[in-house]
Amino acid sequence: MGDARRFRGPVDLHTHSSVSDGTETPAEVVRAAAAAGLGVVALTDHDSTAGWQDAAAAVANTWTAAGTGLMLIPGMELSTRIEFASVHMLGYLFDPTNEALVAETERIRSGRLRRAEEMVSRIAADYDLTWADVVAQTTKGATVGRPHIADALVARGLVATRSDAFAGILHWKAGYYQPHYAPDPLTGVRLIRAAGGVPVLAHPGTAGRGRVIPEDRLARLVDAGLFGLEIDHRENTDDGKARLHELASRFGLAITGSSDYHGLGKPNQLGENTTAPEVLDAIIAEASGSQPITG
Ligand code: AMP
Ligand code: FE
Ligand code: FE
Ligand code: ZN
Repeated sequence: MGDARRFRGPVDLHTHSSVSDGTETPAEVVRAAAAAGLGVVALTDHDSTAGWQDAAAAVANTWTAAGTGLMLIPGMELSTRIEFASVHMLGYLFDPTNEALVAETERIRSGRLRRAEEMVSRIAADYDLTWADVVAQTTKGATVGRPHIADALVARGLVATRSDAFAGILHWKAGYYQPHYAPDPLTGVRLIRAAGGVPVLAHPGTAGRGRVIPEDRLARLVDAGLFGLEIDHRENTDDGKARLHELASRFGLAITGSSDYHGLGKPNQLGENTTAPEVLDAIIAEASGSQPITG
């Protein structure tokens, strides 16, 4: 910690590439992070570490505005679920070859694939959309989600933007929604810790179904090793943030802030929310599964 710090500049700990539902390749996300003036970027694709290598290779040639190498924090956003509410768990610096975690992410990704096919067959009953349209919008091997169906709907001219698709056809109220397999958040925290990683609850104060996590559940996540709460995120409501700050101080949890950048897939801009350098120091100090990568 302290003088051993190997990074300078803003820290953004949540981004997506075309390995999941971002629109840029992992290397492009890394280059965009440097161009945006970040000192540190975490790549956190949904349920996949397939972008780590490309991102790491891109970091080797990437310099920040501060004149230091950009630091890449390899990570993932693990899909978990409490009944019908999806709960996203960020994991940082875990071992990407950990067998239990690899098996669970494979199970989630195949469940997501079946679920996307099921949603498309329901949509196809009412709209001119095929599974091939969705495949055409998806990078081979990527974690498939509603954003890929949204892109297919846009390509077909059935909606104007991803956001319109989410507000309409892909909204759970529209009747085409289907859940997918995901483990309990407690399992998620345990898997990430067992793989030497550091778990942070992603955007826990969003509006609608994903309200602030119940306190008794949070207590159990903390006991299992939850490190922090992603409070500074555009989708957390003001009320949600206030409650999360209370919970963070009560449970001794760290606070992170991030963009949740998806390239052109969402309005979120790199560095729009950031994490304090001391918090990143603590994440790096607690992690034992993999190392930050510096250019
Ligand atoms: P899924 O996990 O397949 O149900 O899809 C949820 C994903 O869609 C999240 O990871 C978000 O990044 C993305 N998403 C949710 N709402 C929107 C929106 N309004 N516009 C673009 N992407 C969205
Ligand atoms: Fe996403
Ligand atoms: Fe998320
Ligand atoms: Zn995300």
